[in-house]
Amino acid sequence: MLPGDGIGKEVTWAGVEVLRAVESRLASSRFELKEFSVGAGEYLSSGDPMPDAVFDEIKRHDAILLGAMGLPGVRWPDGVEMTPQLDLRERLELYAGMRPVYLYHPNDSPLRARMAGAIDLLLIRESTEGLFFSRKERLQPDAAYAEDKLRITRRGAERVIRTAFHAARSRRRKLTLVDKANVLPSMAFFRRVFDEIAVEFPDIETERIYVDATALYLVQRPESFDVIVTENMFGDILSDLAAGLAGGMGMAPSADIGDEYAVFQPAHGSAPDIAGKGIANPVATILSVAMMLDWFGTPDTRYGAAQIQSAVRKVFADPGARTRDMGGQLTSRQMTDLVVSALQ
Ligand code: NAD
Repeated sequence: MLPGDGIGKEVTWAGVEVLRAVESRLASSRFELKEFSVGAGEYLSSGDPMPDAVFDEIKRHDAILLGAMGLPGVRWPDGVEMTPQLDLRERLELYAGMRPVYLYHPNDSPLRARMAGAIDLLLIRESTEGLFFSRKERLQPDAAYAEDKLRITRRGAERVIRTAFHAARSRRRKLTLVDKANVLPSMAFFRRVFDEIAVEFPDIETERIYVDATALYLVQRPESFDVIVTENMFGDILSDLAAGLAGGMGMAPSADIGDEYAVFQPAHGSAPDIAGKGIANPVATILSVAMMLDWFGTPDTRYGAAQIQSAVRKVFADPGARTRDMGGQLTSRQMTDLVVSALQ
């Protein structure tokens, strides 16, 4: 567990409470948890947001549950924030950022007036390169210009695109590539790799849409998307947009999956504006715990994941049961209790 900063700590305990409640209902799975301090708070106390000794310890665990990291007031001397959550993605090669978006109740969507169908999509964000590739470059104080490189490697593109095709196969068999292949050579390359791999999956319907049009279609016809795959920065932006369609950041779980390691965390940040008030929406973290159980992949843990998802569904069937970010009155504690008591 890396609770991190701000509301990261508050939502992590909620996730752990639900995990413990599910664990007591599982036949054979038992979870051993260990907590580590990583993030802006750790930087303030030790001078390093993720000390090497801690990273080495973290790697020895089967899965990582992360709260949120970073505080806007805590920055490196050149002005950018410290982002150990991004370091983890790169150092552990967590190349597929899985961000599911599911609308539990029509009332929770700003599109409610014209919602034709259900919103149930999975956005997969390439998480190790793309436009985040240059993030380690340091800005010189006397710089006359700044530039960032968008890198797409064949290996990076192939592995995330294959993951997306497999994910589509276990859902509604439709995959949308989101790129900017009309303008950027890196994106034309990404599309070329996509087209090559598509031949291996004739059972999956594919479409290719530019990122700007995707922003439009996500608002106009979100129900038409099943699985989306895109580069790092486009995925960063579009997954927040998609979360906004289904109730906001408090409803947006995520999983960063690699071949060896995986990190599970809500897609939101440390929300300093509400930290310490006990009102953060814990559902994104609770659903991230469900993604973790699903990823463990035994019948027992998959059953646990389904239990959590159906408990959240049950709670959200009542439009009155909402935290403040969604227009309700519930505290983090009350929402967590409702989910725990809805577990069968
Ligand atoms: P944020 O996601 O923390 O907050 C955006 C808005 O959403 C705020 O109004 C906040 O109150 C609200 N919000 C977010 N999560 C919520 C929840 N669970 N319940 C209720 N309301 C919620 O984004 P930000 O303000 O841009 O960033 C704040 C800090 O978090 C920054 O330091 C940023 O770098 C960091 N950050 C970290 C991660 C991560 O750890 N993965 C992701 C994004 C931002």
